[in-house]
Amino acid sequence: MKELIEAECCIPALTPPDYFGESVFNDTEMRTRLSKSTYESLKKTIDIGEAIDTSIADEVATVMKQWAVEKGATHYTHWFMPLTNTTAEKHDSFIEVTADGQVIMNFSGKALTLGEPDASSFPSGGLRETARARGYTAWDCTSPAFVKEHTLYIPTAFFSYGGEILDNKAPLLRSVEVLSKQGLRVLRALGNTTSKRIVSTVGPEQEYFLVDKKYYEKRLDLMMTGRTLFGAPSPKSQELDDHYFGILKTRIVEFMHDLDIELWKLGVSAKTKHNEVAPGQHELAVIFNRSSEAADNNMLVMEMCRKVAERHGMVCLLHEKPFAGVNGSGKHINWSLATDDGKNLLDPSDDPSKNAQFLVFLAATLKAVDEYADLLRLSVATAANDHRLGASEAPPAIISAFIGEELDLMVDDLLAGRAYHPTDRNQTNLGVKTISLCTVDKTDRNRTSPFAFTGNKFEFRMCGSSMNIASPCYTLNTVVAETLSEAADILEKATDPDAEAHRYFVDTVRAHRRIIFNGNNYSPEWPKEAERRGLPNRHNTVEAVSALKDSKNVAVFEKMHVLTPKETESRGEIILENYAKQIGIEARTALDMVTREITPAVVDYVYDLTQITYQQMALNVKETGVRNILSTFNNYIDQLYNATEDLKKAEARAQELTDTEEQARFYCYEVLPCMSKLREIVDSIEPLVPENRWPLPSYVDLMFRV
Ligand code: ADP
Ligand code: MG
Repeated sequence: MKELIEAECCIPALTPPDYFGESVFNDTEMRTRLSKSTYESLKKTIDIGEAIDTSIADEVATVMKQWAVEKGATHYTHWFMPLTNTTAEKHDSFIEVTADGQVIMNFSGKALTLGEPDASSFPSGGLRETARARGYTAWDCTSPAFVKEHTLYIPTAFFSYGGEILDNKAPLLRSVEVLSKQGLRVLRALGNTTSKRIVSTVGPEQEYFLVDKKYYEKRLDLMMTGRTLFGAPSPKSQELDDHYFGILKTRIVEFMHDLDIELWKLGVSAKTKHNEVAPGQHELAVIFNRSSEAADNNMLVMEMCRKVAERHGMVCLLHEKPFAGVNGSGKHINWSLATDDGKNLLDPSDDPSKNAQFLVFLAATLKAVDEYADLLRLSVATAANDHRLGASEAPPAIISAFIGEELDLMVDDLLAGRAYHPTDRNQTNLGVKTISLCTVDKTDRNRTSPFAFTGNKFEFRMCGSSMNIASPCYTLNTVVAETLSEAADILEKATDPDAEAHRYFVDTVRAHRRIIFNGNNYSPEWPKEAERRGLPNRHNTVEAVSALKDSKNVAVFEKMHVLTPKETESRGEIILENYAKQIGIEARTALDMVTREITPAVVDYVYDLTQITYQQMALNVKETGVRNILSTFNNYIDQLYNATEDLKKAEARAQELTDTEEQARFYCYEVLPCMSKLREIVDSIEPLVPENRWPLPSYVDLMFRV
């Protein structure tokens, strides 16, 4: 046995496929192509957040262009994240005409560092007057440039002529800086003199559905809104638990394989793939990364999921709730804090109770989550995600934190002033000689918690599948930076910092213990218990945005220099605007489908039934079966007509409202119920109509025929 292990140790680790990161202007490319001084200067900015030296821009641009052209690029684009949950790009070629009429390929430092797209058609929540349409994109060198489809992509931050932030990237970068600054204060106070920077590490797990393109194209709702607005349940859905981790269909394997290759080329470390709970649903997780790169990479993951699916004759649905009655899709954000010299600050070590650093970072995180629960909820608020949160498949809209049995025991002991004795890891013996003794984790998992400690990181589970993770990431970074700054204020004054850290932990956790909930978040008792504890339960986007009426929620972004009050408020405005627009589109799509597809199909079928009843009457048939069916249908057509009219009126009324909040509220509380009513009727009719006469592909087609 010993020999075997030694022999294995001698096998050299295999290198990753040649093409891994081949389309990325990565560290190796920078090191080999840039001058030593430029490389070192750029590295200091990327790795330890030093201010960028703009004098290196020309050299970087020239080298980057050279590399990109070798990779087949003819164009470059400043790639940014406007407040639309997607990315934006405008391509310019490297072509330039010189004074003597020669055509050359050029790319200047100025073109690398600053772009000027017209900002007037991006959401700004009233920040940018239309008359002042200028917007700028500024190079974010902390996330690498890459080549895709003949274009050099340069990650950038987007802001207005007046300097107001118009994107998700800039606040993320700011939050990373402030988190590092405040976290380092804590580390220094606790005696760490070596770490130069703290980064938030983020590993998102992306869920998605795949449907066959031929069915997708027959569903106006999927094409217009990303979700089915109608659809009777299929006879079987997810109740047998046979899809989660189930055998992958060959078509799906081929898709996933191609997707991995595309992502690996782009340096995105796709790691885990499997079937998810609902039929047709899957997951892809990448290896964690610094939050800004993780956010860029996740945007690429979503883009590639869509593009590769097309190649395989499928469509990738990233919507949070494409189908009623089965699980929706989320995006768990695994989040931790690490130093530049590789220490995970949320690693409890063998005895967390003696690990002052861990105690402070854990307590500060719990305090932040409790004090700013509303902001975390807001960071993931969209019309689509409202279908998930609280639907017993995803965490509820109530924020709480799971810390696990082990840490809970430690909390009990420390708060009671007792010494804590860490338990050993359990060993589990399966009683099978050929299976080795297994050392299992100290704590079981909790799959229902919105914010769960999973050993050395937290998993924030409320983010929706289609979202840009930047918003929850910068929110979490900001609120934790704020509580770390308070902790640092205390620790910096302490004569015995370790004892003070211990005291900080006890005081903080005692004051915020209500946020810790290790039970079942899906149970009907939890909302009542949460209410008793005073935890907010903002069950839809409109209520989530009203959290901004609490001035402390606006102030924290200002205090941490992440967003000005104007910028924060404009974000609330944009969320409400998007919410109203999204439901407006859904309502109009539903009306279109009912009026032009569903009702005519039903009326056609009723016409045939009527003909049969006429014939039966002429033949003096006494049996009333067909007449009964007909009368059922006539009744449904009546209901269908009334519900359609109600929705039409509600949607028209909503459109007349000019106040953003009032309009969003109207869509939420008046239009959505009309849509639900209409859906209920349509879904009751669908199973009564022959398959070949129903105008829409069914849930069976969409979820099982792929
Ligand atoms: P699960 O069992 O929760 O589905 P996955 O393997 O799908 O787990 O995803 C776990 C994610 O957590 C991966 O993206 C992984 O890289 C990430 N992760 C691991 N350690 C850290 C860390 N220290 N900080 C942030 N993310 C991490
Ligand atoms: Mg996973």
